[in-house]
Amino acid sequence: MDEEALEIRHALYAWVRVWMRAEVSSLVDRFSPLEGLEPRGVRIKAMKTRWGSLGPKNDMNLNWLLAFTPPEVLAYVVIHEICHIRFRNHSKAYWDLVTRHDPMWPERRAWLKQHGTALLHRFG
Ligand SMILES: [Zn+2]
Repeated sequence: MDEEALEIRHALYAWVRVWMRAEVSSLVDRFSPLEGLEPRGVRIKAMKTRWGSLGPKNDMNLNWLLAFTPPEVLAYVVIHEICHIRFRNHSKAYWDLVTRHDPMWPERRAWLKQHGTALLHRFG
């Protein structure tokens, strides 16, 4: 990649992250109070293979490419990570909690499975 292309790429990355930070913060404001599950912070970054993760101190990491998914898919990943503050596993109790806040989650997961890999390969 030449220097100009690299600069454009960095500018796009910065701009998308600004947009996502605002979007995610309104999602967190909406869902966190419902269960009293507050992430300590949110980090939006390039991740090679994952859409989100939750650190041991409840720092939420989100893949910047979620900005290019449908809004309900982004919301699902935020809910998914928020619910991990209570359950650090994918137990039935965990999925029951996710279902309470996004009953359509299997469709979100199916979307990521069907289209997510292409997105990761294109820009990741
Ligand atoms: Zn998970």
